[in-house]
Amino acid sequence: MPLRATLLPLLLPAAVVALLVATLDTPQGAAAAALVTLAGSLMALGVSRGAMQEQLDTLTRHTRGRAEGATGAPAPGPEQLEEVASLGGAIDSLHAQLSAQNAALTQEARTLTAVLDGMAEGIWVTDAEGTVVRHNDALRDLLQPAGGHIIGQRPLALIRDELLHDAVMRACREGASTRLELALEGLFPRTLSVRVTPLGRDLPGSAAVFHDVTELRRLEKVRKDFVANVSHELRTPITAIRGYAETLQGGALTDAVMAPKMVEIIHRQSERLSELVEDLLELSRLESREVRLRLTEVTLAEAAARATDTVRPKAEGKGQRVSLHVPPDLRALGDPRAVEQVLLNLLDNAVKYTPPGGRVDVYGACEDGRCVVRVKDTGLGIEPKHLSRIFERFYRVDKGRSRDMGGTGLGLSIVKHLLGAMDGEVRVESQPNVGSTFTIFLPLVAPAKAATG
Ligand code: ADP
Repeated sequence: MPLRATLLPLLLPAAVVALLVATLDTPQGAAAAALVTLAGSLMALGVSRGAMQEQLDTLTRHTRGRAEGATGAPAPGPEQLEEVASLGGAIDSLHAQLSAQNAALTQEARTLTAVLDGMAEGIWVTDAEGTVVRHNDALRDLLQPAGGHIIGQRPLALIRDELLHDAVMRACREGASTRLELALEGLFPRTLSVRVTPLGRDLPGSAAVFHDVTELRRLEKVRKDFVANVSHELRTPITAIRGYAETLQGGALTDAVMAPKMVEIIHRQSERLSELVEDLLELSRLESREVRLRLTEVTLAEAAARATDTVRPKAEGKGQRVSLHVPPDLRALGDPRAVEQVLLNLLDNAVKYTPPGGRVDVYGACEDGRCVVRVKDTGLGIEPKHLSRIFERFYRVDKGRSRDMGGTGLGLSIVKHLLGAMDGEVRVESQPNVGSTFTIFLPLVAPAKAATG
């Protein structure tokens, strides 16, 4: 019996129900008719199922017999061949559809993994119990878990933070999202901004995105400290100027002894104020790379001599001897004004932090293909714990002494920036109560250029 014929018993009762519902007008009558029809349908379905089963068995027998090469198997008739062909076609198209869907799903999963692993933020996904079931590469780099395992772990085992744990459980149980910031301690302390969200209505579990904000927070702190430092540095001379000006206004102007001293202090403080503003502007220009240095040949002996001339009056006032030992043919590639400013800042510090009667020596040499200039003093020296920080803005070993000596706390920071812009560098060696040596390195002028220059 062909498949088409097996469907007939099912279609007939349906037609009967439609006819009865149309002719009977009482609900009880219609219900009775429907019951009768339903019974008929079930019987018919039993018949048709049996017939269909028989049909399929015959087709299977035929097909298997043909496949095994059994010559005795009676060949199926043209109608049966048609049934096999259409069944086979349906199976093939189902298989093709499933294969395409499978390939699309595999591709999607691969894309998702690639996107997750390409992200700078760390991500983990948990199941409904809060256990991590998936994560990306960035999360591993961020957490560097002790045992190396992340999958299968609970949040508290990975990051000891109750708030994070609570946030994950709230997302899993209540579908609540949370934002929080974590401070990870250890060898490399990190600050992480975390967002925990539920996965979705039909998906139990949660996802957490970890954003490393360590550098951002550090920069914020640097900016805040800088503003606080600038305000403080500006306030000191301004307070002094205003105080003395008010005292003068209040009658001290006529005091022949005090008035000149106060005016002298006002003058000194206003000079300090303008030096501070100058240094700040210079530093800000250097940091924003606004200053374009003109790199050319610089004769270091000349630059050192000019810087020494500037500090000599101060050094002589303190009974110090400043000596130059720079070969006249030592030429660096740099910006003449910047090189002179670097040497001036170092010499000014050497004179400033060396007691009366001390010595300051400037040596020049060519070492390992670079120009080297050393500014050596017999001054107060710097304790080792301060050495790595003296090039920071506003860092002073002794705040009171630096200010009393007219320092802004920006000199060495400017030196470092200027040398950096000329492909050079600065280093320091120092011994408390013995003295300090600041060494600068600059590129040597290329021999061909030196010869023609
Ligand atoms: P300042 O304007 O205070 O001199 P700098 O940036 O030039 O600022 O120097 C930073 C700090 O480094 C100084 O406050 C001082 O404590 C220390 N320092 C710099 N040069 C010397 C030196 N030659 N001898 C001893 N200490 C020095």
